[in-house]
Formats: sequence, C-alpha cells, structure tokens
Amino acid sequence: MRATELAEAVRSGERSATEVLDEYLERIEKRNAELNAFVHLDEDRARARAAAIDETVAAGQDPGPLAGVPVALKDNMCRAGEPTTCGSRILGDWRPPFDATVTSRLSAAGAVIVGKTNMDEFAMGSSTENSAYGPTRNPHDISRVPGGSSGGSAASVAADLVPLALGSDTGGSIRQPAAFCGVVGVKPTYGAVSRYGLVAFASSLDQIGPLAANVADSALCLDVIAGHDPLDSTSVPDHFVPVSPAVDAGVEGMRIGFVSQLGSGSDGVGGIDPEIDAAAKRAATALEEAGATVGEASIPASVYGLSAYYLIAPAEASSNLARYDGVRYGARVDAKTTAEMMVATRTAGFGDEVKRRIMLGTYALSAGYYDAYYDKAQRVRTLMAREFASAYESFDVLISPTAPTAAFKLGERTADPMTMYVNDVCTIPANLTGDPAMSVPFGNNSAGLPIGVQVIAPALGEFDMFRVAGAIEEALR
Ligand code: GLN
Repeated sequence: MRATELAEAVRSGERSATEVLDEYLERIEKRNAELNAFVHLDEDRARARAAAIDETVAAGQDPGPLAGVPVALKDNMCRAGEPTTCGSRILGDWRPPFDATVTSRLSAAGAVIVGKTNMDEFAMGSSTENSAYGPTRNPHDISRVPGGSSGGSAASVAADLVPLALGSDTGGSIRQPAAFCGVVGVKPTYGAVSRYGLVAFASSLDQIGPLAANVADSALCLDVIAGHDPLDSTSVPDHFVPVSPAVDAGVEGMRIGFVSQLGSGSDGVGGIDPEIDAAAKRAATALEEAGATVGEASIPASVYGLSAYYLIAPAEASSNLARYDGVRYGARVDAKTTAEMMVATRTAGFGDEVKRRIMLGTYALSAGYYDAYYDKAQRVRTLMAREFASAYESFDVLISPTAPTAAFKLGERTADPMTMYVNDVCTIPANLTGDPAMSVPFGNNSAGLPIGVQVIAPALGEFDMFRVAGAIEEALR
C-alpha cells in the first residue's frame, strides 16, 4: 500500500498502526537475511510507538500526516540510544545521545521508525559493498548491487519492507540506488532539509532526502522533513513550499531541457548505456505529449564534474573524519602512546575506501597541491553553477539519465575504484551546484533491470521538479 494511503487509513481509524507495523515486520523477518537491507531493527520501540498512535486515533486526535507509516533511516542518521554505525567498524558500538532533526520531524508527523539501513562506510561508495556489515543485495536480482551508498534504504523500499526510507546524497547516493532498485529518490536543495544529526561526509555536498515507491509518497515525506532548522547553520531560512500539490499539477507550458552532455552522444561525459539514454529521451517525449516543450540544454562543465567531486568530497571527508581518533567517538585500540593509539584505532576501524578518501583528501589539501587540485576543483564548481544558471534562463527543469548503467553484479567493480566512481557521473553535478534533483523509475532495460530518469531543478525549485516527476510517472501508467 502507498504511504499516503496507509496514513489516511490509520488517521481515519480504518486500519491500526499496530496491524500495519506487524505486516511490515513480518516481511522484514522473511526477506532481510537474504537482502541485508536492515542492519538494526528497533522492534520494541516501533511497537510502543504504533500502540501510542492507535491510542491517539482512539482519543479522537490526529497523529499527523505520516500516521502509522513505517519508516527506515539510513544508518548515518541519529536516533537517541540506537546504534548509528555509518557502515563502519569505528562506530560499531556508538549510540548517539540525541535525535537528528529528520528523526524528530518524522516522529512528530506520526511515522513509526522501524530501524536502520545498511550503507557504504561513511556513505563512500556506489554499491553498498563498502559496508563493514556485508553488502546489501538488489531485490530485483540478488546477484546484483542495489547501488549506493543508501543501498539499504533503496532495497528496503523496493522489497516493500518499508513504504518509506531516508537516504543521504553527497554525489548521488539517494538517486543512483533509487534508479538501480526501481524506486523514487529525492535529493532536495542543499539546505532544504536539516543535516543536524546526520554524520558528516562532505559537508558542502551532503543532503538528506526520501526514498519511496512512488512520487506522491516521496513528496509527502519531503514535506514533513523539509524546512528551516536553527540547529543547522546551512539550513535555508525560507519557507519550504510543499510539493505534494505539485505531483498531479501537470507540465502544461513548462520548458524542459535534456542535458546533452549526460546523454550517449560523443561530446558528453561518456559511458552512458544507449538503452538508458533512449529511456530518458522517451521520458522527454512523454513530457512533450503532456504539454511541455522540450529542447537540448548544454552544460559543458559536466565533463569535469567527476574530477572536481573526487577532489572536493575527499578533501572535506579527510577533515570531517579526523574526529574519529579513539578519544571522542566509538572504537579504540589501545597502544603505548596517544599517537600510536590513534594510528592503531584508525587502521583497524576504517575500511579501505575510507582510508583511500582520507589520503586523497589530505593530499589535495596539502601545501603546494592546494592550488593545483582543491582550488581548481572549486573553480569547476563555480563554472558548473554558472552554466546551470544560464540553462535555467531557457528551461524550467532539466532531465537526464540518473546513472550511466543499470545495477551491476556484486564484485564487478570492486577491484578498480575508478570503475565505481564513474557511476556517479550524472548525479554529481546537482551536488556541486546544490540544486535539487530526483530519480524517477522509467521502465526496465532488456535484461529486466530498472532504469531511472533524473529531473534537476534550480535551487528551491522542488515544486516544478515534482510536477515533472509526477508527469513522468503518469506517462507509464
Ligand atoms: N558514490 C559517491 C561517493 O562514493 C557518492 C556518495 C554519496 O552520495 N554519499 O562519494
């Protein structure tokens, strides 16, 4: 059942939150061993919460827009007293003493938080194979990855273990797994959703957003979690315009641009599977039939996006991850001196990809290399923002494939990090600019694997983005 319908049924007393929860917990019980989507379940708390919601309804009060809807959190979002491992050994035993803002907003809206989902360690990866707790598998084909880094959240929604989940997106980690698993994934405008209580990876890029089975459910969830938060200094002060009314608003008269560099043409980023390019173009045609005008948009700096991101993100990560020193958080491996203790702790606590990022980032920031790498990457970021701004003079919204390929096999890309990194080529631009972007399922490839189409909008243009997403979804009905 859709989250929107579930909430309605619970609010009206037609279904009890307890019965809904039992149904989902039973499915989790059946499928999680195979998928490894959840790394932690808060069964007792979820049951108590569902019972409290049922009492609220019985007392004639409204528990809120997500009444009784089971929700999963990616394991880098804090919930007081519950494990928050970030897919890492170093935070294996850590339990935060506070709730993330998204956690408290979901609870205040009547949602029932059921547990934490698996992820690439510290959200670094595109396949969920970099988790210290084993890989997650794609429910459409368990020999394949669910994408990453929010692979556990995407897989849990795709297998209907929960109707809604939250993910985080630094370079595509909500959208790419959504595309691989055939669900909707939204990265809001940078600052639209509070990051308070999200474990930081690359702070100028990180955003939290929903994963859902359909566009309306993702809109409902975004409307609950978005909005100003004084606890996050990068939180946008403006009122967030609710997006739920946009889903059925249609695209009549909208101007939509297909980003030519993110297609399979020769002037582009390269490596885009022609079948996926064709699907994105079919989505464009469907939008045209729905009353929009469609043209080609040019973002030449797209071809530098990957290089810029893989300097900026590791640079910020190397700084953010300095706090895991065996003193303040999580695991400690004792040694004779403090310095030796720190080395031993970080050597044992971090996995290979995290170590690689810390080394790359530290190198890019070091004296003598800063100008050549980090500074240059920031210039690309500015260039990219300018090119998008000029594209938005001619178009309201842009579209492209979400990922260059469909879900790949487990182990297929683990030997060479570059083969993993290139999977983020279509999603990275929106993180560098801070613009909102989302992935909407648009059919399957010839092997039967889901394909995602990406919708990108100017900053705080979520309303228009959801109009287009709603129309793309509608076109498949
Ligand atoms: N795959 C990208 C990376 O490894 C993006 C990760 C993310 O968005 N968290 O950095």
